[in-house]
Amino acid sequence: MTAAELRIPYLPERIEGLRELAMNLSWRWHRRAWKLFEEIDPPVWADTRYNPIDLLRRTGPARLAECANHPAFLELYEAALRDARQELATADTWFHNRFQLSDDRPVAYFCAEFGVHHSVPIYSGGLGVLAGDHCKSASDLGVPLIAVGLLYSKGYFDQIITLDGWQKDSDATLNPDITPLERVIGRDGSVPLASVTTSGREVRIAAWKLRVGRVPIYLLDTGLEENDPLDRELTSKLYGEGLELRLKQEWILGVGGVRVLRALGIDPGAWHANEGHATFMLIERLRELHAEGLKLEDAIQQVRARSIFTTHTPVPAGHDNFSLELIEDCTGDYWEGLGVNREAFLRLGFNPDTNHGSFHMTAAAIRLSGRVNAVSKRHGQETRYMWRKLWPGRDPSAVPIGEITNGVHLASWMSHAILDLLDGRLGDDWKLRRDDPTMWDQVLDLDDAALWEVHVQLKRLLIGFIREDARRRWRDQWREAVHLVGAGTLLSPQPLTIGFARRFATYKRADLLFRDEERLRRLLTDVRRPVQVIFAGKAHPSDGPAKEVLQRVYSFTREPRFEGRVAFLEDYDLLVAARLVRGVDLWLNVPRPPLEASGTSGMKAALNAVPQLGTLDGWWAEGFDGENGWALPLSEKGADADAADAEALFDVLEGEIVPLYYDRDMRGIPLGWVRKMKQALRVAGSRFTTWRMVGDYCTEYYAPALEGRLDGDDPPTG
Ligand SMILES: *Cc1c(COP(=O)(O)O)cnc(C)c1O
Repeated sequence: MTAAELRIPYLPERIEGLRELAMNLSWRWHRRAWKLFEEIDPPVWADTRYNPIDLLRRTGPARLAECANHPAFLELYEAALRDARQELATADTWFHNRFQLSDDRPVAYFCAEFGVHHSVPIYSGGLGVLAGDHCKSASDLGVPLIAVGLLYSKGYFDQIITLDGWQKDSDATLNPDITPLERVIGRDGSVPLASVTTSGREVRIAAWKLRVGRVPIYLLDTGLEENDPLDRELTSKLYGEGLELRLKQEWILGVGGVRVLRALGIDPGAWHANEGHATFMLIERLRELHAEGLKLEDAIQQVRARSIFTTHTPVPAGHDNFSLELIEDCTGDYWEGLGVNREAFLRLGFNPDTNHGSFHMTAAAIRLSGRVNAVSKRHGQETRYMWRKLWPGRDPSAVPIGEITNGVHLASWMSHAILDLLDGRLGDDWKLRRDDPTMWDQVLDLDDAALWEVHVQLKRLLIGFIREDARRRWRDQWREAVHLVGAGTLLSPQPLTIGFARRFATYKRADLLFRDEERLRRLLTDVRRPVQVIFAGKAHPSDGPAKEVLQRVYSFTREPRFEGRVAFLEDYDLLVAARLVRGVDLWLNVPRPPLEASGTSGMKAALNAVPQLGTLDGWWAEGFDGENGWALPLSEKGADADAADAEALFDVLEGEIVPLYYDRDMRGIPLGWVRKMKQALRVAGSRFTTWRMVGDYCTEYYAPALEGRLDGDDPPTG
């Protein structure tokens, strides 16, 4: 039996293709596939949290037989299957038509986390979601991408908040039976595909495959009986405790990842390290080239010619940096395979900016990649400044690090209702004209009443979801009724609703609104023009200060004086994110500049015509145009920057946002607000999707790297 048959044992023959649909995550962004699954059993579909495999396992033979005999269902079934198969089979893709490359080898894309669907919880936040969206758009565009990551068998933790607002991290083991994960079997029939040595032990590595449209993601797993019990746990948790574990995970990802691809007979022509966690992939390729007889300098040049490295954080502490002792323990005498001594090996990870006693993953990745980029214009400036010492004596503006601003996968984040509206306005083929910038101008002509009606509907759905989630947690988890208030059961569909959801890192300042509690109370509880705020997000398990911010925010959700207008949704994940970004009225994003490299949740909101209020950091520094939302003026850095920003935040909320939202015409439509909504949609659609982003990666980096070109190479000398 195939993996799909094991997972979904019974289906009537007439609709057996449901198995194929469910096992490829492309169903998630094909509207007809989604409708098809929903059609099978709407309440169960919702109860499985939109998991088609779970749905098919839970649906009885009688209902399946009914579906198999229902003409309308069958028509939808044929259409959905056609969509999925066509996507896999067509050679007529954007990538193929754009580049006639002599090298048809794939691009290998390495990342430590992938956020593709909430049923596969192997992501913690923005980096993973971006990697997932990158794969989805690569599939849409026909980019020959093959992704490599780790399968965290315990996933990322589930968030449970105690009554006093403290985040508890519980980890449930991921059950592959209700996911589309498939075990990869080697060409010789074996499960272990490759091995690496670490701490003097050989660790065998198996892999799982996740199909994301045309793009396979190979997820490495050391949880094998053959391995030492300690090593079985290496890949079990995403960002588990301690640097030693983290280093070993990166060793498995980088070195093991290359070896697994080789074992599967995959020979990439270009290699993309997405963040420094993947640096060892570059180093393993040096070893391969040395084994073929190249000297280290020549191997470095060859690796540079075919490698891309993307850095994602302007926070120095956010970059991995390992002590030499840890490195030596992890790698053993690996450097002998590069034909160099220990010093020359460690020199690859030398960071001229800090100290000499550690191996810096970003510095090494920059040395070994001919193409390096940051993820927004502003982040580009910060990154060139941060790494200027690798090119001694140069002005930061001349440091050869580029930038490709992040985006999001439109079809995953835009609600079906908005997609339907665009079909009506732009014509059914608008997705094929996505490169035409004037196309997006047409959204300004959307009918005001129709857009507002869709938005109001999405907001009602959100409030309903929140209530149902609270009901479920009340049944399963909570023992105290006071949880119910904080979980948003007192929210209603009318008030101006602000969404704030992201990882709780202190620089994101989730608590900025609470710096002036009295002013906030007045804002929320105004009888005629009330406001409500919905929070969600997880703090990193070892980030104490972030947990304290979360606790503080949480405590306000139960304050009677706020009248139940502040809510916190537990266990933020891709599904909660998708509901929030389409259902709120305003997206709030107030990182402390310049610490947000890009940020993407505001783009997701904007694709649903939800404008953003944000600090001019990350993508908003280039995305805000005065019409598509609001920006806080840049404050002076320093001790009371937060106080100044909080003041500016209230000023704009009270002075502009609330009045505009409540300024209605005779039909009850806020015309000025709807104008902002359309502008938000126009800007995000034309510039902040992963179609544009992956297109840029292809043009600027992948196509030349696939041809082995490295024009005007300018390697670091520092
Ligand atoms: C988009 C997303 C993020 C990243 O959001 P930022 O705005 O970059 O902080 C994090 N987590 C989830 C679940 C997301 O969907």
